[in-house]
Amino acid sequence: MTDGFQYCDELGPEKIIEIYDPSSQLKAVLVVDNVALGPSIGGVRMAPDVTVEECRRLARAMTLKNAAAGIPHGGGKSVIVGDPAMPADYKEKLIRSFANSIEQIKDYIPGPDMGTDEVAMAWVRDEIGRAAGLPREVGGIPLDEIGITGFGVTVAVEVAQDFCDIRLDGARIAVQGFGSVGKHAARFLAERGARLVAASDSRGCCWNEDGLDVQALIAFKDAGNSVAEFAGGAALDRDALLDVECEIWIPAARPDVLTVDNIDRLKARIVAQGANIPATLEAERMLAERGVLVLPDFIANAGGVICAAVEWMNGTESQALLAVEEKIRANMHEVLTIARDDRKLPREAALEMAQNRVRQAMSFRRNY
Ligand code: NAD
Repeated sequence: MTDGFQYCDELGPEKIIEIYDPSSQLKAVLVVDNVALGPSIGGVRMAPDVTVEECRRLARAMTLKNAAAGIPHGGGKSVIVGDPAMPADYKEKLIRSFANSIEQIKDYIPGPDMGTDEVAMAWVRDEIGRAAGLPREVGGIPLDEIGITGFGVTVAVEVAQDFCDIRLDGARIAVQGFGSVGKHAARFLAERGARLVAASDSRGCCWNEDGLDVQALIAFKDAGNSVAEFAGGAALDRDALLDVECEIWIPAARPDVLTVDNIDRLKARIVAQGANIPATLEAERMLAERGVLVLPDFIANAGGVICAAVEWMNGTESQALLAVEEKIRANMHEVLTIARDDRKLPREAALEMAQNRVRQAMSFRRNY
């Protein structure tokens, strides 16, 4: 028995494949965790320090995220050892070599992740005819351009209105990380009557109690500026965003930004998680005790993976938006209902829902 088997449990992983190609010097790992719901879908991450263990954990996270999202896909993930900023021609060679190495693993559909992008997915598809998250020119739905994850976060907040006394119309929002997820969440929420009072990026924060002009701020940020330099608001320190008076706080930047050490500063009544794991479990518990509604990441930010699944089925942009709306609305409602009725954290309810869906799908498979 090898070390890898020590992690096997009732869900997986089904395959852990370590790849080395002497001709390209490719070193990579592919984990197919569980395919009961359908062929696994998950990103290709490139970083210098990725490990088998990281890949295994990310693949399990995809099993649960895809099940929670309600898409007909299991979970998988792959990692390539390398600096994503390597020379472009060598990066293309490595990605193409990786694609050929996984060609026969038909129950894994690669998508973009940290260190790879839609162009890399176009190379993968060129080699093996299989990838999601493609450029528009080859049938992809450009999810960051249309802001589909931010749209999904907005749908999640709409559902949350039924579970607390906050109304979107007139609510003050603060967005941490005014990037692909954050700026579009702000835009969609503003269209529904909310007022963006503060936004931050890696360089600082801007604040205006009367409301920031969202379209103008997006244009300013897209031109390469920091939100802190925006003339329509006052500049604050980056982390002052935590202290801003608001009803809805949206983390859309880094993991673990809300911890037991800073959670007392947060004034909001709803935390809508655009980023992945932006709060520690202890911080989420403390928020629940204070009556703050936390909309868990893998339900609220599932817009991207739902969009990839629609693209994989040759669907259109409008079908993707409809799927995100329907699925996040239904899933968020189910999770918040269970959390309220069973007195659980929304994250615990979401995990339980996802695990049950995987188990049910597994019950239809051959039982040896
Ligand atoms: P992005 O790079 O487009 O934007 C991130 C923004 O956060 C940037 O403006 C950056 O300046 C800012 N930032 C970085 N560190 C910060 C800090 N300490 N304080 C405040 N701002 C900071 O990235 P993105 O695609 O918007 O992703 C954001 C988060 O959402 C990540 O956790 C990502 O994993 C998660 N996510 C993204 C998607 C998607 O569709 N893009 C889907 C699901 C989850």
